[in-house]
This record gives sequence, structure tokens and C-alpha cells, in this order.
Amino acid sequence: MKKSFPYSIWNIEMETMDREVRKSLQTYRLKELVWYLYDNVKFYKDKFNEKGIHPNEVRDIEDIENLPFTNKTDLRDNYPFGLFAVPMEEIVRIHASSGTTGKPTVVGYTQSDIELWAEVMARSLVASGATKNSIVQNAYGYGLFTGGLGVHYGAERIGATVIPISGGNTARQILILEDFGPDIITCTPSYSLYLAEEIEKKNIKMQNLKLKYGIFGAEPWSEAMRNEIEKRLGIKAINIYGLSEIIGPGVANECLEQAGLHIYDDHFYPEIIDPATGKKVKDGEIGELVITTLTKKGIPLLRYRTRDLTRIISEPCKCGRTHPRIDRIMGRTDDMLIIRGVNVFPSQIEEVLVQIEEVAPHYQLIVDREHNLDVLTVMVEVDEKVFSDEIKKLEMIERKIENEIESMLGISVRVKLVEPRTIERSEGKAKRIIDNRKI
Ligand code: ADP
Ligand code: ZN
Repeated sequence: MKKSFPYSIWNIEMETMDREVRKSLQTYRLKELVWYLYDNVKFYKDKFNEKGIHPNEVRDIEDIENLPFTNKTDLRDNYPFGLFAVPMEEIVRIHASSGTTGKPTVVGYTQSDIELWAEVMARSLVASGATKNSIVQNAYGYGLFTGGLGVHYGAERIGATVIPISGGNTARQILILEDFGPDIITCTPSYSLYLAEEIEKKNIKMQNLKLKYGIFGAEPWSEAMRNEIEKRLGIKAINIYGLSEIIGPGVANECLEQAGLHIYDDHFYPEIIDPATGKKVKDGEIGELVITTLTKKGIPLLRYRTRDLTRIISEPCKCGRTHPRIDRIMGRTDDMLIIRGVNVFPSQIEEVLVQIEEVAPHYQLIVDREHNLDVLTVMVEVDEKVFSDEIKKLEMIERKIENEIESMLGISVRVKLVEPRTIERSEGKAKRIIDNRKI
């Protein structure tokens, strides 16, 4: 009997595969990968030799724990093409990471990698509510950044209509939202709020647009921010995760249950480790996500340390997919601020801010060191009405937020309210932290 599922699924065979069967597939693929790396990438051959490991010794997917990690620095040290496993003539596309944390890292795709990417993006789009009848306004940047072309190929794969508008040019985005009637928009969550703001300014009624779903990723965002986006744009906001080193967007994606992101572990094998020791954490605990690309050919990576913090949710999901889920990314290990000994992620501050009525969710965190002490200043915008109030009222709100942050996160911060639109808007990833400490 054919099983039925509550929502559409792009690739029923792979996405609802029995977990034990998938495990055998992972084992098979890992063995192939290890041989492939040994034979084709000098960096890995040297690493295996250094560690005294031979590909023959990998017999089970769990043996992965004995294999070496790959770090972002390894990509940088082999800049630009040193980790490619195929000759350049096999590479059909180059992308580079947006360089949030330094020099870009370069990745290359073979024709089969492009196919694989379209496949996982097709799974992601369908999981987010897209169908062949969808019109997708793709406001991720096209170019070296993977967002634009990743979504583009996935949308074409499912037969939807793509509007390749790319990032920026908000006036044009709104015109197209009104005139072309897309049911889906894809962009960063921070940009979606900016769009909402501009739409409201123009007095356009959301009910008059056809928008139903937004697929947002490329930067951390909180549950509270999701609620805000859903309310203001009148849509369902779905979380998509990916990174260029692994493939780009489409490594993991929420389903319409919105309860964690299914990670496509027939291609991207996840592990969660303690970033300090490199050891696996207990099931369900938070740690650093490590991913192995089981099937990629251009630049396959073994145990790539993403520096993204999350946990694995292994309970079955109501949607019927058997891929495990990862929790929304809390931040990066290198985004984490340590303020007088307390670890803080921008997303935690965001959670607090979004709940305060008078302020808009546009904020920036400024870290300074004064008399050897870290001082965190939270700059946050208020809306027009509040800003024109008397100073005393503004100060009251500032104190209120400071207290709120202190009671929720256990750190004292300075809050500074600023005029609407003083914090720089980003068309891509929002810049949340300015660290002046130089340490
Ligand atoms: P980089 O930002 O390192 O230049 P990418 O452009 O490939 O490189 O971005 C990948 C990173 O973006 C991820 O490692 C992660 O930190 C962040 N990211 C992507 N999607 C999400 C998401 N849905 N939630 C939180 N963070 C995300
Ligand atoms: Zn699900």
C-alpha cells in the first residue's frame, strides 16, 4: 500500500526512506568518499597518512568519528582551488562564501554537483510549500554568493516560475510583488522585515498581495523574529540553512511543521561535537555542527566544521520525512560574544528586543573594552512616534530593555535607542556586531 503524507514531498523515496536502510546507504557512500579523497586530494591523503588511517579501515558510518576534521582554514590555506578533487575541466561553476568572517573561501561544482544541489533545493522548496504552480520572487543575491543561483535551480527543477530579481532595489521588489503576484519570496530574514517596513510605508495592503510563504536563511534569526515576519507580511516563514562549503542553501530546510530543519543526510552527514574537545556530544545536546558531503565530487569535504551551533532532533516528524532535524542555528562559535564571562549570541538579544513593543527589530551590538571590562551597547531603533516623545520617556524604555536583558541573559548592557532608519539596512546578511575590542 502506498503511504500518504500530510504535505507534498519532492523525493518520497529518499526523504521518507527507512532509517536503517539510509544508514547502509551512508556507510556505502562514506567508504566511497574516503577512497575518492585518498585518490584525488593530496591534502586528505597526507592527513590520512599523518593519522595512520587507511581507507580500508572505514567499514561503517560510525567509523567517521576516527577521521580527521576539515576546517575553514584548510580551505583558505589551499586557496583558491587546492582542495578540488577533479581537474578544472570538470568544474562547471565556481562560488565563494560571502566572507562574513574574512577572506572568501572558494568552491567548485561539477555537473553532477549542480544536479545534486538542484535536487536538495527542490526538496527544500517543496517542503516550504512551493509547487510547480508557484511564482518565486528570488531576492537572494545572484553572483558568487550561493543564495541566488541555489534557489534558482531548485525552483526550475520543480517547474515553478522564477523571478531572478536578486537582492536589493527595494522599490522594484515591491513593484514586482504587486504586479507579478509571486506566492513565494526568498531572501534573508532581516531583508524581509525591511521589505515589510517599506511596504507598510507605501500603504500597500498585504491582503492584496498573493504572497503565502517566505523562505528565509543565510543568517541567524529567532523564533520571535519569525513571529514578527509572519505577522507583518501575512505569510508563513520557513527556515532554510546552508553554507557554500557544503553546497550552498538546501543543506537543511524546515517543513511546514516549522519544528526544526530536516537535514538531507543521504548527502550531508551531520554530527554534533563539543567545539572545545572535538568529541561527539550526547544525543540532543547543543554543539557545533560538523558535516560530511557524502556524494559531492568537485570539492568534497570530510567532517567540515561549520562553526554553527545547533542540536539534532531525532524524533520522527509529523510530515513523514525521516531525515533528522537540526534546531534553528543559535549562532556561530565565532559570533558568540563573551561578555564578562557570559556567552551571548546576537539571537538571544534579538529574542528580547522583538518582545518590546516600542522598538523595531533593527539592532546592532557594539562591544568595547573600558578599563579592561567588556561593555556591550545595544543600539536599537524605535518607531517614529516613540522617538518624538520626551527624553524621559525614551530613557524609561532604555532602562526597561536593560532590565529585561539582564533578567533573561544575566548580563548588564547599555541600551541606546536610535531614530528610525539609523541602523544600516543590509540587502544580504545583516551586520549585527561591531567589536571594537581589538583583542
Ligand atoms: P559565510 O557567511 O561564512 O561567508 P556563506 O555565505 O556560505 O558563508 O554562509 C553560510 C553561513 O550562514 C552558515 O555557516 C551559517 O552561519 C549562516 N546561515 C545560513 N543559513 C542560516 C540559517 N537558516 N540560520 C542561521 N544561520 C544561517
Ligand atoms: Zn517534517
